[in-house]
Amino acid sequence: MDIFDRARRALGDLAQSASTQAQIIQLQTRMGEIESELTRQYAEAGRRARELWRQRLFADADFEVLMTRITTLQQELEQLRTEVANVVSAQPPPPRTCAQCGAELDPNDRFCGTCGAVAAPAAAPPPPPPPAGPTAA
Ligand SMILES: [Zn+2]
Repeated sequence: MDIFDRARRALGDLAQSASTQAQIIQLQTRMGEIESELTRQYAEAGRRARELWRQRLFADADFEVLMTRITTLQQELEQLRTEVANVVSAQPPPPRTCAQCGAELDPNDRFCGTCGAVAAPAAAPPPPPPPAGPTAA
């Protein structure tokens, strides 16, 4: 691999990771919006439930609409969480670099080609993501 290939590859990685970052930020922004919307809906449902209870009434149509809205939002949030996890896990691992001089190392290098320092072993793969929490039925 010559220097130009290396530069092109580095630029490609950079562009990819920048767009991945943007994608993650976009997803997280949307998640934040849904979370605050859910908070509002929970508050409204709680208020409505107390009102119904005071009047010794069962859930009415308004309340059903609220609960449906909450369920939909929860599902949307769960879906976004999955999307973020997919985007994150699709990212290539960061390149190995020399702890001594910062030069980029090939995965199998045992010594730095630039300064000759002993290369630290490749980082262990990240642990699998924790299992998804309970989902609303
Ligand atoms: Zn080095």
